[in-house]
Amino acid sequence: MHRLLAKQVSKAVKDDGNVDLDRLLSLVSAAYEEADRDRRRTDRSITLMIEEVEALNRGLEDEVTARTSELQAVRRLLEATFNSIAQGIMMVSKDGRVLVWNRRVVELLGVPVSLLRDQPELRIILAYQRRQGEFIHADKMLLSWIEADGEVEHSQIFELTRPNGMALEMRTAPVGDGSFVLTYTDITAQKEREAAILRAESDYRSLFENAVVGVYRSSVDGRQLRANPALVRLNGYSSETEMLTSVRDISREWYVDPTRRAAFSRLMREDGRVTDFVSQVYRHKTREKIWVSETAWTIFDKDGNALYYEGTVIDATDRKMAAERIEFLAHRDPLTGIANRELFQQRLRQMVARVKPGRGIAVHCIDLDHFKEVNDTLGHPVGDALLREVAQRLQRTVRRVDLVARLGGDEFAVIQGRVSSGEDAATLAARIRKELEAPFDVDGLHISVGGTIGVAIAPEHGTTLDALFQNADLALYEAKAHARGAAVFFDEGLGVQFQRRRLLETELRMAHADGQFELFYQPIVDMRAGQPVAFEALLRWHHPTRGYVPPAEFVPIAEDIGLIMRIGEWVLTTGCHAIKNHDQTSSISINVSPAQFRDNSIVPTVIRVLAESGLSPRRLIIEITESLLLKNDETTRAQIDHLRMLGVRIALDDFGTGHSALSYLQQFKFDIVKIDRSFVASIATNPTNAAIVRAILDIGRTLNIEVVAEGVEDLEQISRLTDAGCHRFQGYYFGRPAHRPIWEEGDVQFLRIA
Ligand code: C2E
Ligand code: MG
Ligand code: MG
Repeated sequence: MHRLLAKQVSKAVKDDGNVDLDRLLSLVSAAYEEADRDRRRTDRSITLMIEEVEALNRGLEDEVTARTSELQAVRRLLEATFNSIAQGIMMVSKDGRVLVWNRRVVELLGVPVSLLRDQPELRIILAYQRRQGEFIHADKMLLSWIEADGEVEHSQIFELTRPNGMALEMRTAPVGDGSFVLTYTDITAQKEREAAILRAESDYRSLFENAVVGVYRSSVDGRQLRANPALVRLNGYSSETEMLTSVRDISREWYVDPTRRAAFSRLMREDGRVTDFVSQVYRHKTREKIWVSETAWTIFDKDGNALYYEGTVIDATDRKMAAERIEFLAHRDPLTGIANRELFQQRLRQMVARVKPGRGIAVHCIDLDHFKEVNDTLGHPVGDALLREVAQRLQRTVRRVDLVARLGGDEFAVIQGRVSSGEDAATLAARIRKELEAPFDVDGLHISVGGTIGVAIAPEHGTTLDALFQNADLALYEAKAHARGAAVFFDEGLGVQFQRRRLLETELRMAHADGQFELFYQPIVDMRAGQPVAFEALLRWHHPTRGYVPPAEFVPIAEDIGLIMRIGEWVLTTGCHAIKNHDQTSSISINVSPAQFRDNSIVPTVIRVLAESGLSPRRLIIEITESLLLKNDETTRAQIDHLRMLGVRIALDDFGTGHSALSYLQQFKFDIVKIDRSFVASIATNPTNAAIVRAILDIGRTLNIEVVAEGVEDLEQISRLTDAGCHRFQGYYFGRPAHRPIWEEGDVQFLRIA
């Protein structure tokens, strides 16, 4: 200040050496102004600085707050994690204090939280555990670590099973500055798994050693790796080592059929296993052939590559033999030893599937003629012997590619392979017929039977088992109906007939239940008495759409399906009641089917109906046909005798047709013989027939048998028959079958006069 003032004074000194006061004053005041300005400037920059520092402080405070809460969040997170992990963790300082621990420690060690508080020494905790008996299962290593109060110089792993069964794994990990981390893991589950595996291993080893089935392991390429004692024995060896050194290649040395191993491997590749894989193999050491059943599976590595095969082997020889025997028996007809229906169908199905144009097959369905008669008259043993003979002849007749089967009863069938034309089939059919026609020698008896054949060819007559067989059967059916002893080939028309027949069968069954049957009555007139002595009951089926169906069309079917018994009973009842109500004297003539004799029902039925209707047995005539007598068996004869003993009369119907033998008239006792209308119709034109008619009438007179002429239609017939001594007539001339037993006397007025 002094210097400034001195400077200002010096500046204010005038030349004269005096001080210019004004100047000095202006200099001083300028200086003051200047100083003032400086001060103000300084003040302002200080203010600015303070503001800046304050702002800086505020920023720092915010930062610190933010960082602090961030840190707290991280800490909470760490704490949560620390406390929620499955492992128990303790951090121990270099002076042996537990600085940090998590909640899991409490659970895993069973130490109270209070003990852990305030950073206790590890030693204290170990001592507590020891007091609790926690170390009774501890091993030596752990015990010595505990002795040393848990000193840790390097990483260590201990296992401890607590008294409560929990298994713990303890790990120590030094951190570097003398402190270390202790972790505890609950390994109870893992221990149990290991124990289970060990147990299973020993169990399996015992199974492997003691099993009665063979157990093995083999390489995928067929080397034997392991074999249990059972498998060793199965292969004829005495030890596993002996067997393993002897077997080099399973596929080539074991299977009898070398392709079996390939099949086995393929299944293993595709399904990963095989079950009950049955093959014929060699008992390896002895080369004896045996059958085995294998069940095997593939063991894969973790990448899915097949490592080896394991499996079991059972000796299946007995089972196989039994199965083969059963298979054989299941497909053989026990009586003849040839194929049965089963095998026939099986083979036919296979052969039909392989049919190609020009390489067809034929099915021959064969029915023996007259077999029933042989059986009935000569007995079952002869019948059986005959069937065996037939089977042998058929076998001889066919080639190796063909198959002969017995389908049941006297039904046989042949599947003929490699048929290139219908002619091939016809040739074989003819050969078969010829074979069957030649008489058979059975027990010193000469028996002639012959066969009827139905033939169907694939592909022409069907390309499935069912179609082909059904069509051959249809052809046979047709042959039996119209061409006994011949071979008939299937044609489309037969199918239609068959359908019709099926329909008829169904309708017939319903007809009976529905009351569609009616009886018509036709008079049998005695010329000497000039009036009817009897009426024949003739069955009619009043079909709802087709009108009256004649018995010739449906009686044979009713016989086939067994319905004739019930129908016959109805006819008998209805006929007896009708004649009882009609008059006091005339008789009723009832046609009875052989089937009614065959099932032995006729006698009891007649007795019951006579009793119910109160009709005198003398007024009942039973008409039988020659076909019934053909068999000449005892039961038929007994039933006829029985009926006659009751007083019922027996008439032989349609005499002269079929096998007609005059000798029947002597053999059986008949009351009436009815001359078939074919003789009556030809009496004027056929001298032989006329002679036969006369002979019948002669015998009738001699044996005291009434003779009735059937189908009399005109006067010429009547006069010729009368000349020959016939008095009883039945026919349109005297009356057509009518709803009631009626008789128009006018019909024979002319004759009576004559
Ligand atoms: P059948 O016992 O010989 O009966 C005589 C057949 O000749 C009857 O035929 C009858 O209508 C017919 N007829 C009668 N007079 C004449 C004639 O002058 N000229 C011609 N052309 N035919 C005449 P239908 O009624 O068709 O019976 C046919 C066969 O059916 C019967 O022959 C008999 O064997 C059987 N039948 C009829 N009714 C029954 C029955 O109730 N039970 C059984 N099992 N069979 C019966
Ligand atoms: Mg008759
Ligand atoms: Mg007749």
